[in-house]
Amino acid sequence: MPLTREEAAKIARRTGKDLAAFTWENDQGVLTLLNEASTRACTFLLTDSAEPDASGLCSIYEFRPKGCRMYPVVLNDEDHAVVDEECPHPDGFEPPSEDDAMVLLNLEERMLRGG
Ligand code: SF4
Repeated sequence: MPLTREEAAKIARRTGKDLAAFTWENDQGVLTLLNEASTRACTFLLTDSAEPDASGLCSIYEFRPKGCRMYPVVLNDEDHAVVDEECPHPDGFEPPSEDDAMVLLNLEERMLRGG
């Protein structure tokens, strides 16, 4: 999950972890949450399983990044808001709106600007 540098700094403050312990930087300079090698899940997901639909709890739920709050709504290649086709539990969500697309586009812009 990508996140802004402000969000990463907040997580670092609240958890006492260094950025390098929970993020990596992609080739566009965007910070992304690390996955655990054993579970292939986000480093903050409390789970022992590598199954994609395994249960688990987010250990930073109250201050999770905006992208996590929006998920499973993501942008597709045409910048439309859609439900992620890789989401294991896609049912029960409202169809994504134009407002969702604007929120995600603004978030993406902040990430690319290093905000
Ligand atoms: S909701 Fe929590 S566990 Fe899931 S990707 Fe975001 S930070 Fe990680």
